[in-house]
Amino acid sequence: MLNQLRKWASLSLLCLALVSCSDEEVKPASSQDNNLAMGNPSNAGTGFDNFLIEKPQYALSYSNYRGTPNWVSWHLSPDWMGNASRQDDFRGDNTLPASFQRVIPSDYTNSGFDRGHNCPSADRTRTEDDNSATFLMTNMIPQAPDNNQETWANLENYSRKLVDQGNELYIIMGSYGKGGTGSNGFKETLADGKVTVPNRIWKVIVVLPQGHDDVGRITTNTRIIAVDTPNSVTVNPDWGGYRTTVDAIEKKTGHDILSSVPAAIQDVLEAQVDKGPTS
Ligand code: MN
Ligand code: MN
Repeated sequence: MLNQLRKWASLSLLCLALVSCSDEEVKPASSQDNNLAMGNPSNAGTGFDNFLIEKPQYALSYSNYRGTPNWVSWHLSPDWMGNASRQDDFRGDNTLPASFQRVIPSDYTNSGFDRGHNCPSADRTRTEDDNSATFLMTNMIPQAPDNNQETWANLENYSRKLVDQGNELYIIMGSYGKGGTGSNGFKETLADGKVTVPNRIWKVIVVLPQGHDDVGRITTNTRIIAVDTPNSVTVNPDWGGYRTTVDAIEKKTGHDILSSVPAAIQDVLEAQVDKGPTS
């Protein structure tokens, strides 16, 4: 009887080992990957105007002078999306160093500008914590309502459609310049200068079929969508008309976007304007 038990025990162990082996062979098509896999566009570190913040949900360069991120970078795959509801808990980011100014939701109140997410709420719905993290004010810019609710919403919806179609994405969004036109007219800053209203809002999207070794799979044929839009209520809802090259955005911002991609491939991809579908 004891022998029999021993036999069963070792047999079960063997089975477990086999199961975990085959699990590794049949890896899921996608996963939650490194939000900074495409690189750190501004070499963000500890500087006041280029401060690196890495959260599980996204990574960003924060400008204490602007009171906004310079850019935010995140990975999007089915593994980031689930059933968590929109938390709507806009709040200051208490992880900022004590020497930094903390932007709070009321700094935007009645300004004529939306609290515009960089990493969108709907891209982080796996857990309530993930979704809640997108409502930190370090992920926000003052965004003209038409830009946020139409042009940008259309681009965000199209991005999630690309994921539904079997892709995973790396998305880098940023803003630059000073002064935009919201629903109460032109403004350069909010809250007595605490928050700079950006003049332009850009996004770069890397589109890859779901898989592994993402940077290594980028070729000169990889689809890259780059857009640069005015932060204005007169913006066109069709984001496709704002497509540009990564090179043009790099020239305006001084960033090196996609810096983890081999230079020879960057040279080709960053000089092209996307001509793919927009919905
Ligand atoms: Mn991947
Ligand atoms: Mn680059």
